[in-house]
Amino acid sequence: MFSIHDEPSIIGLLEANGHKKFRYAQVENAIYKNLISDFDKIETLPKDIRTLLTENCFYNSLSLHSEKTGEDGQTTKFLFKTHDDKMIEAVIMRHLSGRNTLCVSCQAGCPMGCTFCATGKLGLIRNLEFHEIIDQIMYAVNHLAREGKTLRNVVYMGMGEPLLNYENVKRSIQIACGQKKLDLSNRRITVSTCGIAPGILRMAEDFPQVSLAISLHAPTDEARKKIMPVENTYPLTVLMEAIDAYVAKTNKRIFYEYIMIAGVTDRLEYIGELAKLLEGRLAHVNFIPYNPGEGFMGTWYQPTSKIMIKKFQEGLEKVGIPSTIRHTMGDDIDAACGQLALKEEGVSLATETGKSLGKPTVSL
Ligand code: SAH
Ligand code: SF4
Repeated sequence: MFSIHDEPSIIGLLEANGHKKFRYAQVENAIYKNLISDFDKIETLPKDIRTLLTENCFYNSLSLHSEKTGEDGQTTKFLFKTHDDKMIEAVIMRHLSGRNTLCVSCQAGCPMGCTFCATGKLGLIRNLEFHEIIDQIMYAVNHLAREGKTLRNVVYMGMGEPLLNYENVKRSIQIACGQKKLDLSNRRITVSTCGIAPGILRMAEDFPQVSLAISLHAPTDEARKKIMPVENTYPLTVLMEAIDAYVAKTNKRIFYEYIMIAGVTDRLEYIGELAKLLEGRLAHVNFIPYNPGEGFMGTWYQPTSKIMIKKFQEGLEKVGIPSTIRHTMGDDIDAACGQLALKEEGVSLATETGKSLGKPTVSL
């Protein structure tokens, strides 16, 4: 059995059974344009092809475990179960401006062990297949369609590190943006990475239009090392070199995410250091107030005050770097950044503990 999103396998199946090439175009049109989610309802196809597909492919690799909408109705979090009982999450954000964004997961858990992140605490459970990523998107497209809305943006900012599951992420973007498929604009896809330098270079080659967000979170090697183990493999100099090469190739502005944790990432001296690091670079900084998440580090990690964030913004303004403070959506349903850790009714649903690549330098 294979996924309905696995184009080469479906074409192979159709050909092996003596069917003409145009039949795949009909399948494609039914799934992505007409959002038909049952082979038997694809009326453009003869009965024998519908039976062939039913016997050999599956429509959806995920089953919905639960769904929760925040009080303001803007955010909906879906908890999905994979065929092997792993739990993953995706979040729809309905912005007041009318655009709708989906945050997708690309791994169950994450091996990177960032000290402030609830997903990182799980370790890597496994990479998601490309169709498991697309099925999150298809689910959201259908969900929004029932509300009379459309999906505009997809951000790879859910569970996991996209550039450590590159091939599956790549294939999912190709389907999301394929003209005959979901036809989203490449520019409206954002991939966020903690700083996997070789992956950044691949993104420049494969997807020069897709937006790149870098989880920077600290302006020096020393400061970064304390909260992000990735720094041991790809130190800031290596990361910035990869980013500079990416910008030279794509001419795209990089979105730097900077988490504001009181006393950890918001020290006064970091204002100048952050400005120095980004001065002259094509950058936009997004300050993210720390979300306490499960509260597993809550005793010593606290969000920074708005006044302090403003000081950082002023520091950047002096060197001509624009910045914004991320409006936190979905924190009442544990769907805000860094809170995608399979928590439901206070019970962790992780079915197994994965392995961390790097050891967090702050013990949990
Ligand atoms: N692994 C990728 C993408 C997923 S994380 C990455 O790290 O970029 C999405 C964003 O949420 C990242 O910027 C991450 O650093 C941030 N984040 C993680 N935990 C957080 C927390 N507790 N509070 C606020 N932001 C957090
Ligand atoms: Fe992984 Fe990103 Fe969380 Fe770090 S912040 S542990 S890279 S999901």
